[in-house]
Amino acid sequence: MKLLNNKTKLLIASHNKGKIKEFKNFFSVKNLDVLSLEKFSNKKPLENGNTFKSNALIKAKYASSLVNFSIPSLADDSGICIEKLDYKPGIYSARWAKNNNYLCAFKKIKKEFEKKKLNMENQNAKFVCFIAFINTEKKRFFYSGELEGKLTFPPRGDEGFGYDPIFIPKGYTETLSELNYKIKNKISHRKIAIDKFLNDHYK
Ligand code: IMP
Repeated sequence: MKLLNNKTKLLIASHNKGKIKEFKNFFSVKNLDVLSLEKFSNKKPLENGNTFKSNALIKAKYASSLVNFSIPSLADDSGICIEKLDYKPGIYSARWAKNNNYLCAFKKIKKEFEKKKLNMENQNAKFVCFIAFINTEKKRFFYSGELEGKLTFPPRGDEGFGYDPIFIPKGYTETLSELNYKIKNKISHRKIAIDKFLNDHYK
C-alpha cells in the first residue's frame, strides 16, 4: 500500500519504544513509512505461545487483523537466553522485568546464578529474535537472528534498552549499552533477522 508521498507503509506490531527506534533505523535506508501499533490500538495481544516464533506470529496476526490486511505487518519476538539457566528467561525476558524494571531482572539473574553457586560474570548468553511478517495477501514469512555474548554485572552504559547494559557481545569488551547504537544496529539479532526480511521483500 502506498501513501500520497509514495512511501510503502509497513506496520510494526510493537509498543516497545526501544524496538521501534531500532526498526525505524533499519528501514530508514528503504523507502518505507514505518507505522507503529499504537497508531491503531493501545491494546496488546495475549502472548501465550511457547516459542519466539509462535509469539511473533500472534503479534503479526493481531496487527494484520487490526488493519484488515490492508498494510503489511511485521512483529518481532525476542529475548535473552542464558546458557547455564537453561536458556531462560527466553520468551519471558520482558516479564522478568516487572513494570519495566530491568534492575530487578538483572538482580533476578544474579540470584539464579547464586542459587547454582555460580558467578554471573562472563556467563554465555545470546539474544534471539524471531520476525513474523504477514503481507497483504495474508501470506506468512519468518526470519530469525542471534547475537552471542557474555553477561556482566553490575549493568554498564546508557544506550539501548532492556538487557543491553549486562550483555557484552562476542568480540567486544563493552556492553551493548556502552557501545554506540550504530554498532549494535550493525551486529544485533534484530539486524540479522531484518536483513533476511529486507532481502526477501524490499530489495
Ligand atoms: P517482546 O517485546 O515480548 O518480544 O519482549 C522482548 C524483550 O526481550 C524486551 O522487552 C527485552 O527485555 C528483551 N530484548 C529483546 N531484544 C533486546 C535487545 O536488543 N536488547 C535488550 N533487550 C532485548
